[in-house]
Amino acid sequence: MAIPRPRHAVRTLFEVPAALRRLSRACSTFHAFTDVLRLPKRQMTKLVFPLQELERQLTPDSRLDLHVKIFDPSLEDISKAEAVFTATSRNRISYLSSAVRLDHAPDLPSPEVCFIGRSNVGKSSLIKALFSLAPEVEVRVSKKPGHTKKMNFFKVGKYFTLVDMPGYGYRAPEDFVDMVETYLKERRNLMRTFLLVDSVVGIQKTDSIAIEMCEEFALPYVMVLTKIDKSSKGHLLKQVLQIQKFVDRETQGCFPQLFPVSSVTYSGIHLLRCFIANITGNLKTDGL
Ligand code: GDP
Repeated sequence: MAIPRPRHAVRTLFEVPAALRRLSRACSTFHAFTDVLRLPKRQMTKLVFPLQELERQLTPDSRLDLHVKIFDPSLEDISKAEAVFTATSRNRISYLSSAVRLDHAPDLPSPEVCFIGRSNVGKSSLIKALFSLAPEVEVRVSKKPGHTKKMNFFKVGKYFTLVDMPGYGYRAPEDFVDMVETYLKERRNLMRTFLLVDSVVGIQKTDSIAIEMCEEFALPYVMVLTKIDKSSKGHLLKQVLQIQKFVDRETQGCFPQLFPVSSVTYSGIHLLRCFIANITGNLKTDGL
């Protein structure tokens, strides 16, 4: 997978998005971890550690390992990570700026994480869910065909910056591809790239190209599986096992543990917040 790919292969990754869609999903009641801790244990585990819940369904003789314990923070650590994502007068969380070129990007000393994925994969919804403890943050989306696609920067207090990258598809304008490539290759404070894959359909061709791009640039990246509430348990398990196999066999730079999430039920969101808090150096959980 780490074979260098010609730039034109990367260029097929992006497209003008299909249509403008407004997210109107009802908010979950599980924004804050204190609410989650009141749930019965089984329900809480399902919400906080969705991968563990899936692993329970594997037959004992299954030799496939879902690597559920590589990042396995305590509930206390997950609780601590909430502080990083909670807006207060001392922890201002806000949209900062947008850029179409790396030299227009804000020059901040704080660590950065970025989110990439196909249009419609659920990226805006996921970022909104991560920022649900800072409800005034507006996650901007530019989905109209022909509209300039931008990288959107969000400042999370003194802790880190989160970058929402434009959604990709086929036939992107050249300058747009250059923007994404240049950012991924040259952003010095980029700590981790979160690559979103729709768990309902699994890894698609455009996802593969994005994965190859991450591998080619030797980026440390993490696969986040979106919309896990949409499938039956059986279908989800099948997809997750397939993706896990792919990550184990075909990738070098991908973090071995998958992060299944739902922006509707908030499943996996608290764990992902905790992981981001760790990756950006704001929390120290054993095993990372
Ligand atoms: P983006 O283009 O990647 O930013 O995708 P959006 O966040 O706009 O989501 C695309 C569509 O998927 C919208 O109709 C969302 O309501 C829906 N969606 C996003 N995340 C989820 C999820 O976790 N569960 C379900 N059921 N639908 C989702």
